Parts: sequence; structure tokens; C-alpha cells
Amino acid sequence: PASRAEAVLAALDDEQREAAQAVVGPVCILAGAGTGKTRTITHRIAYGVHSGVYVPEQVLAVTFTARAAGELRGRLAALDVGGVQARTFHAAAMRQLRYFAPRVLGGPMPSLVENKLRLVATAASRSRLSTDRTSLRDLASEIEWAKTTLATPDDYPARAKAAGREPPFEAAAVAAVYASYESAKQRDGALDFEDLLLVTAYAIEEHPAVAREVRAQYRHFVVDEYQDVNPLQQRLLDAWLGGRAEVCVVGDPNQTIYSFTGADPDYLLGFADRYPDSAVVKLERDYRSTPQVVGLANRLIGQAAKRKGLPGLRLLGQRPDAGEPTFVEHPDEPAEAAAVAARCKALIDSGMPAAEIAILFRINAQSQVYEAALADVGVPYVLKGGERFFERPEVREAVLLLRGAAAGGSDPGALVPTVRDVLASVGWAEHRPPAGGAARDRWQSLAALVDLAVDLVAENPALDLAGFVGHLAERANAQHAPTVQGVTLASMHAAKGLEWDVVFVVGLVDGVVPIAQSLSRPDAVEEERRLLYVAVTRAREQLTLSWSLGRNPGAKRARPRSRFLDGLAPGSSPTAPAPGRRPAKRQKVVLEGEAGELFERLRAWRSQAAQSASVPAYVVFTDATLQAIAETRPTNLMELSGLPGIGARKL
Ligand code: ATP
Ligand code: MG
Repeated sequence: PASRAEAVLAALDDEQREAAQAVVGPVCILAGAGTGKTRTITHRIAYGVHSGVYVPEQVLAVTFTARAAGELRGRLAALDVGGVQARTFHAAAMRQLRYFAPRVLGGPMPSLVENKLRLVATAASRSRLSTDRTSLRDLASEIEWAKTTLATPDDYPARAKAAGREPPFEAAAVAAVYASYESAKQRDGALDFEDLLLVTAYAIEEHPAVAREVRAQYRHFVVDEYQDVNPLQQRLLDAWLGGRAEVCVVGDPNQTIYSFTGADPDYLLGFADRYPDSAVVKLERDYRSTPQVVGLANRLIGQAAKRKGLPGLRLLGQRPDAGEPTFVEHPDEPAEAAAVAARCKALIDSGMPAAEIAILFRINAQSQVYEAALADVGVPYVLKGGERFFERPEVREAVLLLRGAAAGGSDPGALVPTVRDVLASVGWAEHRPPAGGAARDRWQSLAALVDLAVDLVAENPALDLAGFVGHLAERANAQHAPTVQGVTLASMHAAKGLEWDVVFVVGLVDGVVPIAQSLSRPDAVEEERRLLYVAVTRAREQLTLSWSLGRNPGAKRARPRSRFLDGLAPGSSPTAPAPGRRPAKRQKVVLEGEAGELFERLRAWRSQAAQSASVPAYVVFTDATLQAIAETRPTNLMELSGLPGIGARKL
């Protein structure tokens, strides 16, 4: 056992080892992305267990997502540690409450609220407020924020004002909805997600016998991603600890991405004040990414508005030099997706495992065009932290309606207006993307369906509704194909804590990153910058950042690229086109000749395009050229068009 403990320590650097050896007492690791925080806590637990200081069953490691908890369990298993609990706050609370419910609630574990929006709707209509979906979602997220920040309905108006919230109705009205939502829930005897934590904390705080049992069971606590802890989770953690200091927290204030739902990085930054005898460890060496990726991450976060007292968390790259991150501008989103998909295919064909590649985007609705592009080139993918496009409830509902309309013989007036009409019947309004997060996602999914219809009609003007529905079914099937291993498609939020060899951060348009709703509030814009920092620091080897001028092919107005890219590209000055400027006319190049020479010229184009994001071009292939290429190497137009910045057309 002693040698197992030593082997654990040998896998760490000096600072990491210091943290891992501090197995008793409070420890705080404050460090940037990729410096080995998660590695250090798993090794610390392994060291504590293998050296006989910990009883594994008495260790509770908590984090924020099921995926991250799974990651912790996997890393612990790899270190030969069994019996340690690694869970999300919710899962840990649920387990404890189930056990203590008869004692503290006088009955079995209450059920979880099934339809939260319905409860909110009842409360809202009692207050004579609008009950459209957007308002309900906004109300629900205000109630969620109030509960995670431990604000009662009475507290809500003042607290919301101080926090700069932008509630959908007057604060007093929101407070009234919150109060009647709570009493309706109590009448039903149900708990929502926040109640799970609150009731568990309350059970421990108010029942000395329960507190004794829980605290005897769990003696050592570890929290990963602690920068995203909210007051409610902190209260539960305090209840578990009961004044003990057996806690190790790790986090990176530059990766706080949940403050809009109540997370507060001050718990991390204030840890050492709260526990004056804690070991505070800083890690600076970045083991994950190439120095080029690290440099870009440092430049990005270095531009963040200075936060009072925020420690400098620079990263020092440890890995060998590699290529610079690539910046690519595309004419439109389908072209951007096709280029990324083609690049994925080329990498996989050259031996890269698909599971080592990720495509990261800001909003879930952006995944659709990538799902389609990957399906087009036959690259398997897995979608993280979001439902596959055709499995989303709003898309399923819309597809059913479209199918019904087609079956009912409703009719090719033209396809696109028909699709718009059908979607309007489920509350989709063409020109008004709602402000709220979930409602906006839903709107965008439906907009993606209209975009798809527009694209298909451009290819085949005679397409009718039945044809469109058939096409949707085909796509849905292709995308449901079970995949064991695939390219990861994930939102930037869902990518936190994870890493891949190759990362594409896509859709970097101002208004998407930073997202439009954040633009009126500087602190919200800063949160968007941190989100991009999380995204770029996922890359081990290759990082590509891309955006497209128009949403659809032929869009009249160029969209500016994300403001965060200004000054990031090595040696580049910002080249964001002014909003409203027409996209540069693309250069047309006809390629003909012998295959080897063609590839040379394509390669030259590619490096030119990589250096100067503003030289869009397209290449026209004659039949003879395609023939020549096909004889040399199995390939297709899609793959060739995937060269960054270059579109392809068959003559
Ligand atoms: P994030 O902030 O993104 O969650 P992190 O600080 O938790 O990052 P880890 O995921 O623990 O970082 O580590 C990043 C990568 O670097 C992992 O692949 C890890 O195995 C590797 N790594 C960390 N420390 C070392 C080390 N001392 N020697 C070798 N590899 C290391
Ligand atoms: Mg981590």
C-alpha cells in the first residue's frame, strides 16, 4: 500500500503533490484551465485512501454535472480507488433525503415536480400575467435564481434589483408568482430541484440525530469546479461539514459560467479567509494544451475587465510547440458546417479517432447544421448536454404538425410560406426571437427548420410539403443511427472540464458570442468571454475558431465576427466587417490540370485562406479535374470544399 501511495504522488508535479499530500484540513486550489486541478483532487483522494488515512466510503466528492461526476468516478477507478462517492450535489442530496425522509418529513420521499411550467402557469394566471411560453420560462428561471440564492418571495424584489436582474414582469408580480408557486407545490406534496437541496440541508440543520448520522458517514469533502457553487449548494455543503474543515475545493474564477443562475465565485476567492489555516495551492503549468493554445487563452482572458482582487491566473504551456490556432471566416453557416465536417472526415481518414474531436457552439440550436453536415459526409457523432435536433420536443411537435398538414393534402402554395404557417401555429413568430434562454433555443430550433426548407427549395424549387416531410424523416433516421464512438457536438457549457485533441469552436458571431441578450450588461458580456475561454481551453493539439458572414447562403448583410476575437489572431488586426456591409465578392478560380499539381494549388489556397480570413474564394472543378482527383484519391466535392475559406462548385 505504501508504494501504491508513492506511485500516486509520483504522477504529480511539486505544487500538485503539495495539495495531494494535504489530506487532512482545508485545501484550496485556485488555478487556470488544464493545470491539473481535477487530476490533483483524484490523486489526493487516492493518496488518502492508499496511505490509510481515509476510509473510502467516508469520502464525498461533489461536482455540478452528471458527466463531470462520471469523469471523477472514471479517474478514481483508474487509480484503483473503490468505494468513494463521486456525485452531483443533487444526486448526493437525493440519496440522503430518500433515507431520512420518513424521519424528517413523516412519510416516504416526496415526488419531484413533473411539470414545473404548469405550476408556474397556474400561479401566473392567478396574478393575471401573460402565460405565453416565453413569459413562463422567464418566470421559472427567476424563481430558480431566487431559490438558489436563498431569496424568499419577500426578499425577491430588493435582491433582484441589487443583482441587476431583468425580470419579465415587475418584481412584485414575480414575487407573488413565486409565493403561489411554492404553496401550490406544497399542496401537491412535491419537491422541485432546488427543494431537494434545501430540504436536505434543513433536515441536517434541524434534526440533530440526522446531522450526527450524515456527519459520521461523510468525513472528507471535495468539490470540483467550485467557482460555480451557488449559495444553496454552499448551504448544503456547510450542513454536511457541520463546522468541520475537512474540505478541499478546486476551481478557476476565469471559468465561472453560471453566475446568471446564482453561482458566486466569491466562495472560491474567499475560501482562504474563511479557513485561515487552509493550504492554498496555485498551479500555473498547463499540461493540457500546446503553448499556442495556451497563448491564445491567456490573451483572451487577459482582456477581461479587471475584477477586484482577482488573482492573476496566467498559464505556462508545458507541451511541445505546435501549429497556431486557425481563424476561418465562411460565407454562411452551411458552408462553415460543411468545412468543419470535411476537416473531421479528413482527420478521421488519416487515423485520428473520432472521439478525439469536438465541435463546440454557444446555443443548442446551432447543432442542427453540424449534425446534418456530419451525417452528409458519414462521420458519426455524439451530442452532449443537449438533445439531438430531431429529438427536441419542439422539433418533434413541429415535424408531427408538418406531417399532418402534408397528409391532409394541405398545399406547395410554395413550400417555405407553408412551413412558416404551420410553425406559426405552434407559436413561432418569424421576426421575434424571444429574449429568454430556453424560449430562445426553442425559437432557434424552429427557425432552423425554416432555414432547411429555404436551402432545399434553392436546390429543388419544385419541392412540396410531402417531399419536405420525407426529407425530414430521412435526416432524422440518419441522425438516429446509434454511434459508439463519434465526434463530440457540445455546447460550450457542457464542455466544461473535458478535453479533446482537436477542437472546433464555431459560430463565433457577435450576437451569438457574446449572446445578444448579454449586450446590455457588461458583467454578462464578461461571462460570455469566460465561456469562450472555457471553450478554447478544451483543445490539446489543434484549435480552430470560425464564424460565418451570413446565416444562410446569399444573405444580404454581413454579420460581424465575435468581438472577443479582436486582437487574438497572431499578428492580425481586427477585421470584423462593419454590420450591414455586404460580404466581399468571392473570387472564382477554375482549376484544371494534373492531380498532383491540383493538390499543390489547393494546399497553397488553404494556407492563404488560413492566414487571411478575409479572402473568401471558391473553386470551380471541371469534370476532367474531378476525374483526375478521383483517380488519385477517393474524395468528393464536400471534402474539397472543406478547405477553410474555399467553397467548391461543380462546373
Ligand atoms: P479544467 O480547469 O479545464 O477543469 P483541470 O485543471 O481540472 O482543467 P485536468 O483535467 O486535471 O485539469 O488536467 C488537464 C490535463 O493535463 C489532463 O490530461 C491531465 O491528465 C494532464 N496533467 C495534469 N497534471 C499533469 C502532470 N503533472 N503530469 C502529466 N499530465 C498532467
Ligand atoms: Mg477540471
